[in-house]
Amino acid sequence: MNEPLLQIKGLRTHFQTDSGLVKAVDGVDLTVPHGGILGLVGESGSGKSVTGLSVMGLLGSRRARNAGGEILFKGRDLLKIANKELRNIRGAEIGMVFQSAMTGLNPSFRVETQLTEVIRRHQKIDQAAARRIALESLELVAMPDPARKLKSYPHELSGGQRQRVLIAMALSCNPELLIADEPTTALDATVQKQIVDLLVDINKKRGTAILMVTHDFGVVARMCRTVAVMRHGKVVEQGIVEQVLENPQHAYTQTLMDAVPRLHLTREERAVPRSLRRLHEVIQIAPPAPEPRKELSYAAAQ
Ligand code: ADP
Ligand code: MG
Repeated sequence: MNEPLLQIKGLRTHFQTDSGLVKAVDGVDLTVPHGGILGLVGESGSGKSVTGLSVMGLLGSRRARNAGGEILFKGRDLLKIANKELRNIRGAEIGMVFQSAMTGLNPSFRVETQLTEVIRRHQKIDQAAARRIALESLELVAMPDPARKLKSYPHELSGGQRQRVLIAMALSCNPELLIADEPTTALDATVQKQIVDLLVDINKKRGTAILMVTHDFGVVARMCRTVAVMRHGKVVEQGIVEQVLENPQHAYTQTLMDAVPRLHLTREERAVPRSLRRLHEVIQIAPPAPEPRKELSYAAAQ
């Protein structure tokens, strides 16, 4: 257990396009410890999704090229193993909630059909057993009235409930790592908070490690222990969340923090210049009371 669950070293993922080479990911180092939550934050186009998709081996474009690096999952380089083996790991050991997934549920099929299909793809079990796991998965994501929701069509669910179905799908095979790509972005603030709290709860209950992709530092502050900040395909800053929030080393990180909405502040609070306040006083979603930490050095957290 000494090696981290996921360790990405010097990853380069490039795309050959008509207008030239796009270095979407260009030398990324990331570490997700067993049972940990790493926030991957950065502006749109910085390479967050391509990083997640590279881990899954799901770039879905013939123009995508791995131009170097290693993706070590439990010590094995996912870039080197056979496709068949990667297919087994994907879904069973690493689950992903895709950024575009909110539109990805098929409107013509009931939730149950879509969940059991994914479950049976990875487990050799009959339909009745898959249905039981589907129900348990909806219970895990705290879906209200889960038995009835299984029989529903996607349009009968709210946006937050559809996102819960997608998280349930990604977790149905009990993976050790969940890659969640902007799972709260399309949701309103209250539902965002519920989904963030749900993911933290699942991390605590099941020990599922999470690579949390977001452009929102408020989400990072609420749920992550460590954070990596991406820009133009590179990680420009990485460390313990509190330390990065208190003392960002990179002007770009400060800019990302400044972009966090200030909706829930009183008029007096809003009048104080942001630069004079600590970040967790300005973020929309306040971080939970800090748990006692044994150490605060980034290296020791790995
Ligand atoms: P983020 O998730 O941080 O918003 P992405 O990882 O989606 O950013 O994209 C990083 C960069 O890679 C962007 O410049 C994007 O245009 C480019 N890119 C992503 N997918 C492809 C693709 N299939 N072909 C060409 N370029 C791509
Ligand atoms: Mg993205």
